[in-house]
Amino acid sequence: MFQLPKALPDELLLSRLIRFVTISGISSGEFLQDCFGSKKTSLHPFLTSGLYSIAKLCNEDAISLLKEQTLAPLFFFYLPAHAPYLRSMMLTNNGAKAFRASQLVSFGSGQSLGLKSCSLCVQNDISEFGVSYWHRSHQIPGVNACGRHGTTLHFLELTQRQRLIGQLLPQFEVEIQYSPHTEILVAKFSAQLLNLLTVKEPTLKITDAYRYYLEEKGYLTHGCRVRRKELMHDFSNYISNHRNTNLALIPRGHKDFRYLSQLLEVDGSHHPYRHLLFGTWLFINVEQIFTCPPQSARIEEAVSTDKKNSEQVVEEKCLDLLKTGTSLAQISRETGKSRCYLKRIALLNGVSVNLKPKILTQQIIKAICSLAYAGFHRREIAKRCRVGIGTVEQTISSHPGLVERRQECHFQSSRRKNRLFLRRFIAEHPDSIRRDIKQRCCAAFFWLYLNDREWLEEHLPKSRIAKGRY
Ligand SMILES: [Zn+2]
Repeated sequence: MFQLPKALPDELLLSRLIRFVTISGISSGEFLQDCFGSKKTSLHPFLTSGLYSIAKLCNEDAISLLKEQTLAPLFFFYLPAHAPYLRSMMLTNNGAKAFRASQLVSFGSGQSLGLKSCSLCVQNDISEFGVSYWHRSHQIPGVNACGRHGTTLHFLELTQRQRLIGQLLPQFEVEIQYSPHTEILVAKFSAQLLNLLTVKEPTLKITDAYRYYLEEKGYLTHGCRVRRKELMHDFSNYISNHRNTNLALIPRGHKDFRYLSQLLEVDGSHHPYRHLLFGTWLFINVEQIFTCPPQSARIEEAVSTDKKNSEQVVEEKCLDLLKTGTSLAQISRETGKSRCYLKRIALLNGVSVNLKPKILTQQIIKAICSLAYAGFHRREIAKRCRVGIGTVEQTISSHPGLVERRQECHFQSSRRKNRLFLRRFIAEHPDSIRRDIKQRCCAAFFWLYLNDREWLEEHLPKSRIAKGRY
């Protein structure tokens, strides 16, 4: 059983192991032999595998090592499709498989393996803890700045297969350079995100958070399509001072629309730095990623609200029609709702619906005939007697003289209407001649001409005799 040095803030597991072999006198070969049964085991700097074995030998918790001292949480978050496999390969002693699961090779970022450090952090750590160590947040692929000091990180390439090397701790470099502003912001954002992912299990997909905040910022159309040109334009402006040291990680120009459309694909696999760069621009702070509501909940909420609203409108319409006594068949045709549904809402709202077939009693026949005799329209009679229009028509035609009576009523009504129309016109235009009346009261004139010609001749002005014909 070995006792590793206590982890310092933001310290990488490999850094602790290097410190252990540096101060314990135990060689890295011995340690690897005891831990993995082979001196040749190669440890990855930030995706260190064999965590169960290391934890067992050093009396540590493997899951804590995975979450707190490797970059696994960041890869799990941005590559959810590969996360379970990566996790299992890192916990067991499968370094090569774990590295393949991280997809870093397929991203083609072309970076060689190494360890990065900040001179000012080194200075600070030596004065505070008496030792320099490798920071986990500095090792994030693509990040080349210290989020705390803004300095450009020094890169120490690891050329040997064996990375557990005694004394291999960061050195203070006299030459200090500072990084462009955007790169410092990305470094800060990345470090904060890594810290949050260490303590919090993300419950949503990053693409959901992207879409939510893109919509908030007006980069989505009403149809939820991305306004690519505006988005790319603004994003490109933001990263304009980013150094083009690695073209696989930054857009290839203002028109590299694929760069962002790929990031917005659900379950896509892309280099974490591309996400970190975009996230730095999109989110005001890292917490926003964790506080946006999951998309499924938002869609369900929107759909259920819409559904509720439309259902309520239809129900109200059905109720109104039921109250007016419209037949169930008619309401069903108008609203598309079934008779069962209509009966149910009628019962729920205390609206009485005569569900039994209506028996045509003598009283109803009498009422229909009486209204028909008075000249009411068939629709009005049907409504008042709560029967169908067909029943009204049948009743009228089966009563001798009633049809003629109604025709006469209709004729007289039309005659009254047309006579009145013509009289009014002549009264208002006493000087008008026959031709004017014929033109201005065309419909009334011809109805009277065809049906009431005698009256028409009596009331029209006398024909004028054309001048100069005698
Ligand atoms: Zn620093």
